Amino acid sequence: MSQEFDIAVIGAGPAGQIAAIAMARGGRRVVLIGPEPDGSDRRTTALMDQSLAMLERFGLWETLKAQAAPLAVMQIVDGTKRLLRAPTVAFRSAEIGLDAFGYNVPNAALLKTLSAAVAAEPLISRMPTSAETIDAGLDMVSIGFADGQSVTAAFVIGADGRRSKTRESAGVDVKSWSYPQTAVVMNFSHSLPHQNTSTEFHTETGPFTQVPLPGTRSSLVWVVAPQDADRLMSLSSEQLSGEVEGRMQSMLGKVTVEDGVQAWPLSGMTATRYGKGRSAFVGEAGHAFPPIGAQGLNLSLRDIAALEEILIDGSAAPIAADCGDRFDRKRRVDIASRTASVDLLNRSLLSGLLPVQMLRAAGLQVLASVAPLRNLVMQEGVAPGRGLKSLPSLLRKKVGR
Ligand SMILES: Cc1cc2nc3c(=O)[nH]c(=O)nc-3n(C[C@H](O)[C@H](O)[C@H](O)COP(=O)(O)OP(=O)(O)OC[C@H]3O[C@@H](n4cnc5c(N)ncnc54)[C@H](O)[C@@H]3O)c2cc1C
Repeated sequence: MSQEFDIAVIGAGPAGQIAAIAMARGGRRVVLIGPEPDGSDRRTTALMDQSLAMLERFGLWETLKAQAAPLAVMQIVDGTKRLLRAPTVAFRSAEIGLDAFGYNVPNAALLKTLSAAVAAEPLISRMPTSAETIDAGLDMVSIGFADGQSVTAAFVIGADGRRSKTRESAGVDVKSWSYPQTAVVMNFSHSLPHQNTSTEFHTETGPFTQVPLPGTRSSLVWVVAPQDADRLMSLSSEQLSGEVEGRMQSMLGKVTVEDGVQAWPLSGMTATRYGKGRSAFVGEAGHAFPPIGAQGLNLSLRDIAALEEILIDGSAAPIAADCGDRFDRKRRVDIASRTASVDLLNRSLLSGLLPVQMLRAAGLQVLASVAPLRNLVMQEGVAPGRGLKSLPSLLRKKVGR
């Protein structure tokens, strides 16, 4: 006889592990299905204030904080060689009353902390294997494995990445698109302090984003054309260090790139629905876009917060058959607006069209000079809705320069 659970989470990446912990803390019996991440991910993730509050609520933040660096200033520098260049815009967390917008956390540290928390959680059963079949019926979901075993659950959360079997099995299509871009990802040490400042240089091929790590180290996501990525990956560590330092105009002094440079081809994808019946698709199973403005995993944590509201009501009541549809309705606006704004910003960098460049430069000019607008953008970046809630008081303030 197959084991029965309230909720099955498919995929043990960051979204899946956090979803499993959230559901278990809400009193649900959870099975987390998926291979253990292999520790090879060298990326770091900038987690914003609202995401950190969630990790803190689960008691995970204390362990992670020592390995993370605060983001107190985020600046955008126009690094294009175009005729129309935008002014530098600096967002300071102190302007909206926060010590930091968020923290930059190495993915390896995040995944290790999550795995330990999952192992210690009495309401989570861990199956470190892939799901072969996922059948979401009217009354329950059945998940089958290669060895012929199966489990059942009242609800399935698909956190199984871009090629989600959970989403496919539910018959949900995706809209996907590609970008002529690859993100080259690395960590580096530097001789000058970063002062908890992240700098995003906008270039003709995409953003070049330095994000602080503890001490005099930073992480870098350098978005370039695929052939340039091949060239950067073939350089010696000294040559690459020189290129990074040059691109940053030595603003952090001498740069030494660490081993383990990785390349991530960029693409965009959005599911046509984010939930259906007894299934929901979170994280990159539902949406994926280029790494601009640290949006991806932060958006995924908001998926999980929405699932907490739908699936956990404190009464241990049975999970209704329409929870996936409710999740879909609840998440549409946030996911669509984030996907569209990241896509627009990325395409505006790639576009050689003068009117597009003018609009981008004008937008950044307005942000640089109009404090209440900058304030609104910062509040929205930290937690969607927060800025709009404070809009009336912002409008009452004198527009300052
Ligand atoms: C270069 C780069 C930088 C980024 N920086 C940031 C940032 O600063 N801030 C931010 O918020 N986001 C950032 N992101 C986005 C963020 O990294 C992703 O949103 C996040 O890693 C996706 O996590 P996930 O758990 O949804 O998917 P994944 O990490 O892809 O995990 C999916 C898991 O599902 C498992 N799986 C697949 N099929 C099955 C199956 N059949 N059965 C069981 N398990 C299965 C896989 O093994 C995998 O472990 C960045 C992305 C890139 C590319």
